Amino acid sequence: MVMIVDTPTLATLLKRVGVETFLAELADRIEADFANWPQFEKSARLAAHSAVGVVELMPTADAEWFSFKLVNGHPGNPAKGLLTVTAIGMLVDVATGYPRLISEMTVLTALRTAATSAFAARRLANPGAQTMALIGTGAQGEFQALAFKACLGIRRIRYFDTDAAAMKKFAANLADAGLELVACRSAAEAVTGAELITTATAVKAAQRVLTDGMVGPGVHINAIGGDCPGKTEVDARLLERARIFVEYLPQTLIEGDIQALGSSAHATELWQVVAGRAPGRTGRDEITVFDSVGFAIEDYSALRYVYDKARALGLGSESPLVPAPRDPKDLFGYLTELVGR
Ligand code: NAD
Repeated sequence: MVMIVDTPTLATLLKRVGVETFLAELADRIEADFANWPQFEKSARLAAHSAVGVVELMPTADAEWFSFKLVNGHPGNPAKGLLTVTAIGMLVDVATGYPRLISEMTVLTALRTAATSAFAARRLANPGAQTMALIGTGAQGEFQALAFKACLGIRRIRYFDTDAAAMKKFAANLADAGLELVACRSAAEAVTGAELITTATAVKAAQRVLTDGMVGPGVHINAIGGDCPGKTEVDARLLERARIFVEYLPQTLIEGDIQALGSSAHATELWQVVAGRAPGRTGRDEITVFDSVGFAIEDYSALRYVYDKARALGLGSESPLVPAPRDPKDLFGYLTELVGR
């Protein structure tokens, strides 16, 4: 039997666990898996680009589990009433090769991206940060805000989106979240006084959402929207002033904001900081950037977390997606038993 976790089941799981607890526990799981980085099979994701978006396959494995996610990114979708990012993922038992879990990963991607952002910021930002600027309040926005509250104790979000309706829905969704929400009229206004900045915009172009003069010393930038060839958010001059951290460098060189640096692109892989092999922030005034594009190990962590939680809480349905014949060599006979001769 294969466990199926669809979106309503994940919503039930989230309600039972609590969104902030889920985000905090998942951030710890992702951090622990980053500490085991050398144990994982790794490759840059397979990406099929079109003029309007990208469809990607993101696999990884350790000795116990193989996982993959199928995900898209189509910035023009909301204008058609569709999500920019949707995803489905699978967890497979390495010992038998049998699939164990198929899960919705649209909501789970938002949760794991936010949990990854928060754990990276916990490692890289100056301690005691209270205010985060959020540029882009689309589908990822609330998850980012709640993860930074749960994992870093952020109290205030200064937010801006070019779409006033997206700002309104963000404020309505987080009205009771225990955060002070400050609506701003521009990205420049939003970043004023913020110790942390998250950019989560979706435009298939080399945008300059954050430019050099906008960011002062000591700020940590969590840049999640620059995640495809030719789709970036942070100006090269700002990157040149910063220490840059990435997930998996071979993938980020193709997809991340560091594309803007061309052949002089440089960055530290975050797992090295977690494993104590490279320094994180080295001074209070340093600007740090987490140039996030999303990596398969984060999906692995999220799928395993959901699998464990769903089993513990008795959630998820079991589906006979893999045949179970009494004689494993008699697949044909098994079919005949199911439907008759
Ligand atoms: P979305 O389309 O729901 O929201 C994006 C928002 O950005 C929209 O509300 C849009 O109006 C706003 N926007 C666009 N340009 C802007 C600008 N210059 N200034 C302010 N706001 C602007 O998309 P989403 O699902 O929230 O995803 C956001 C981004 O994050 C996408 O680019 C997506 O590809 C990326 N993403 C990255 C990861 C990762 O792991 N790094 C994971 C998921 C999504």
